[in-house]
Amino acid sequence: MQQPQDNLPETDGEPLCIRCDGLMDRGFTIDRSHNGAHQHMWCPGDATRSFWTGGVKSHHLATGITITTYRCTRCGRLESFALPPEHRNAPTA
Ligand SMILES: [Zn+2]
Repeated sequence: MQQPQDNLPETDGEPLCIRCDGLMDRGFTIDRSHNGAHQHMWCPGDATRSFWTGGVKSHHLATGITITTYRCTRCGRLESFALPPEHRNAPTA
């Protein structure tokens, strides 16, 4: 078995909560805006903002990685990962 990323304990491919050993459910977080709901992304480097809109410039979308978040079914703790596409099914390196 590969060592879980960030030392997140794992059993049968599903991670366990590092706080209480509870099972963690896979999911994602969204951000609501006037354009709808969007999944959060991780982007490398510093954010650059549009002078016109004040929002983050859209070129960051090209290098961004969508964030997968696990939620502990026992204590509610959240653990997030920015996994490259080939690792989206498990939080392992
Ligand atoms: Zn927990």
